[in-house]
Amino acid sequence: MRVLQIGAGPTGVSVFRQLYPILSSQNEVLDYVIADENEPGSGLAFGSTGNSHILNLPATTMSLDPNNPLEFYNWRARSENIWNDGTYDERVWGEFPPRRLFGKYVSSTLQTLLDTRENAIFIKRKVQAISELKGPNKFLVHYEGGQNELFDKVILCIGHARKKPLFDPNLSNYFCSPYELSHLPSDASVGIIGSRLTAIDAALSLEDSGHKGSIYFVSRSGALPKVFDENKKPYSKDLFIEKLLNLEYPTLNDIFVMYKEEIKSVMGLNEDSVEKLLFCVNSKETFEKELELLGKQTDWQNVLLSSYDVVDNLWEKLSNLDKELFLEKYYGLWMTFLAAYPKSSALRIKNMMDSGQLSLIGEVKSVTQNGKTFSIFSSDKREVTVDYIVDARGVGYSEDDMRCSLLLSSLLDNEMISVNEYGGIKVNTASYEAVTRFGIVKNFHVIGDLTKGEFLSTTDVGRCVSHSVKMASYHKDSIY
Ligand SMILES: Cc1cc2nc3c(=O)[nH]c(=O)nc-3n(C[C@H](O)[C@H](O)[C@H](O)COP(=O)(O)OP(=O)(O)OC[C@H]3O[C@@H](n4cnc5c(N)ncnc54)[C@H](O)[C@@H]3O)c2cc1C
Repeated sequence: MRVLQIGAGPTGVSVFRQLYPILSSQNEVLDYVIADENEPGSGLAFGSTGNSHILNLPATTMSLDPNNPLEFYNWRARSENIWNDGTYDERVWGEFPPRRLFGKYVSSTLQTLLDTRENAIFIKRKVQAISELKGPNKFLVHYEGGQNELFDKVILCIGHARKKPLFDPNLSNYFCSPYELSHLPSDASVGIIGSRLTAIDAALSLEDSGHKGSIYFVSRSGALPKVFDENKKPYSKDLFIEKLLNLEYPTLNDIFVMYKEEIKSVMGLNEDSVEKLLFCVNSKETFEKELELLGKQTDWQNVLLSSYDVVDNLWEKLSNLDKELFLEKYYGLWMTFLAAYPKSSALRIKNMMDSGQLSLIGEVKSVTQNGKTFSIFSSDKREVTVDYIVDARGVGYSEDDMRCSLLLSSLLDNEMISVNEYGGIKVNTASYEAVTRFGIVKNFHVIGDLTKGEFLSTTDVGRCVSHSVKMASYHKDSIY
């Protein structure tokens, strides 16, 4: 069997780790190729350069080994000879080291696996298109540069689709990516579109580069991510998880009520106080209040984070109407809870706000380009003009977003994938094979954040690892 796995990020390495031994035991001849256009581990989140872009979750919880949460933490201590090239500062030993260090761990884990798996290779190549040869049940894969190859099985682990750009990407004052801001003039005024983790990255990069001009976070919600409490009290989650899993046909409201009751009981608060506590952080004042309460009234984080693993189970049980309601009204807010960020980064954001350099503009109605500047309009009729726009809206899940990738566009054209009505690509939730109007595309798998519509919780490394374990165990139980 010839297998092509596209992508060697955390999901790809975890899939390879789990799946290869199973395929190897099932197939007399196995040829496993892993193709990535970049160095392994250097995708959107962990390929970011510099020391300011730090992990948003503690090092002790970030691991590619489902049975050992400390694998990354221990690798850091043991493998300094591999990663320490002298470019890291003291943060590298902290609980939230630079994300690029995690990328190095992903790459080193892949190399260790390849060293002992003789029928597998890594190639640094971009896959541009794939078509299905139905008769012989094979996939014809086209690499950038013109070479083609046939495979029996393809596994797509390409991470995220970028959002379709808001303006012409060739405009000199519009940055589609927040990770390439080096030639932005230091006195320019900048609107960063978005207010979640990618936007935080952009603001920190500007601060690192000594930016002097005004900076605005520009978004519809105006809500910043929550700040991660590093010193949470112990919480015994089992009973609550059991209650969630026992819900048979829950409505969205049933789930909200259960969470609210659990938070009230864990924190000893009444309804009003819980509502106030979990209110959006959407102004300088609410942000300051949140920082003040950090470590004192943050046990709600335990409740949310410890139940992240059962989110797909709850999502699957919701009615279509409730799914739509959640995505329309609550998804943004939910992500501010789940994609939280560390206090050290939050304090830098606060300093930028205190100095008057950084402000939040919420309830944004539109952003328009007027020659050399951009105007930002909010619903309170405020208009702010900026010289530059940085697009930090993060990742996209719509067909328009997916069409910006040559590979995804080819897969859509060849009807090998279809768009999930709740975002991303439709897959069979057991085998992770793509599903189109013709049914399951046998042996064509998609795993990672592009399957968000099916599982909802696909955004962090822990979930990527759990999904690869589930996908591998499906292979174990089925004859391929
Ligand atoms: C700003 C930010 C910060 C984050 N911080 C954290 C964090 O601290 N902790 C956490 O758990 N999660 C974090 N995340 C989420 C994180 O991105 C995911 O958990 C993780 O990267 C998913 O891994 P992946 O392998 O699916 O995707 P990726 O890491 O993006 O890897 C995908 C790989 O596929 C390759 N590829 C794509 N297309 C092709 C092609 N056509 N041909 C060949 N190769 C291709 C890419 O080069 C890349 O190497 C963060 C996300 C963002 C945006």
